[in-house]
Amino acid sequence: MKYVDEYRDAALVHQLAGAIARLATRPWTIMEICGGQTHAIVKFGLDELLPRTITLVHGPGCPVCVTPAEIIDHAVALALRPNVTLCSFGDMLRVPGAGIDLLTAKARGGDVRIVYSPLDAVTVAKENPTREIVFFAVGFETTAPANALSVQRAQREGVRNFSLLTSHVLVPPAMRALLSAPDNLVQGFLAAGHVCTIMGLAEYGPIAREHRVPIVVTGFEPVDILEGVFRCVQQLETGRAEVENAYARAVKTEGNVHARHVVEAVFAVADRNWRGLGLIPRSGLEVRPELAEFDAAKRFQLSRSAGRPDTICISGEIMRGVKKPHDCPAFGTTCRPEHPVGAPMVSSEGACAAYYRYRSRTATATIAV
Ligand code: SF4
Repeated sequence: MKYVDEYRDAALVHQLAGAIARLATRPWTIMEICGGQTHAIVKFGLDELLPRTITLVHGPGCPVCVTPAEIIDHAVALALRPNVTLCSFGDMLRVPGAGIDLLTAKARGGDVRIVYSPLDAVTVAKENPTREIVFFAVGFETTAPANALSVQRAQREGVRNFSLLTSHVLVPPAMRALLSAPDNLVQGFLAAGHVCTIMGLAEYGPIAREHRVPIVVTGFEPVDILEGVFRCVQQLETGRAEVENAYARAVKTEGNVHARHVVEAVFAVADRNWRGLGLIPRSGLEVRPELAEFDAAKRFQLSRSAGRPDTICISGEIMRGVKKPHDCPAFGTTCRPEHPVGAPMVSSEGACAAYYRYRSRTATATIAV
């Protein structure tokens, strides 16, 4: 398939792995931000092609994994109201909250519908004018434009029974939070190419300079990822800390200006609680006050609780790069895809689900902190 096969070229992959091995003179720890990149690394065994001096750790870029339990609980409570239809992407239905998940709520009679676009939820609202239709708007900068468009469409078409339950998060504040942690191990980042397709590169320069950390914007196929690692190691070995774009076929320096404007028109930056990572200031998006009628949190007067830490799930330590899924005692035992204890075992972008699918299913310590 054009634009995929050439980025899965085995000979090129081995060439790049060899070049990285020749380049690396000491240990380096590099974090890929996005769960899609994590999935590709584990699926294709890219980390196992690298020299032992290069450690890839898996960042907080899986939207399902960082959606806090209290938002899941709000979604469940809304779904169980007699006059509410909760529309969601399918991957949110099995994410555990503090109580039941959305699939269980549906089994108990809640009106939970899987949609493939937030615009589909606007259509559901138009077709059901006597019901309140809430779209569960989770994700990073990548999903924010379509969610913002759904509000603009509902407003333009006079759809007054539509609102968003938002749990939008932003990548750059999370990178800063990880780098500022006292136990941080990350020395270089593979930034998420699709996030930069929307947002461009402007936010990453100050992070690279202030934290002295190379940031390479990277795609999602094996050749993309190893090129990102190569460029990152090149910078680390030569003492540079710059932003490089290794995904130029999709990412422009300025990003997608139109999409950014749509997001800014509908959402404002706000503090956000991340599952496993806690509260990160100015790391999320919420519906602007002037569009409050489209904000389910305001419309249904949902509380902004501080959130509760997961009890045995170590997803926070995995997403900070200090542990790997095999380090979790629940991995493959009490926590499996059919009975997930934590969100990273649910989502196809979650590190635990990727390790469960493609690696040994027994827990072994892999990183010394
Ligand atoms: S294996 Fe399960 S409980 Fe352990 S970190 Fe992963 S999702 Fe959480």
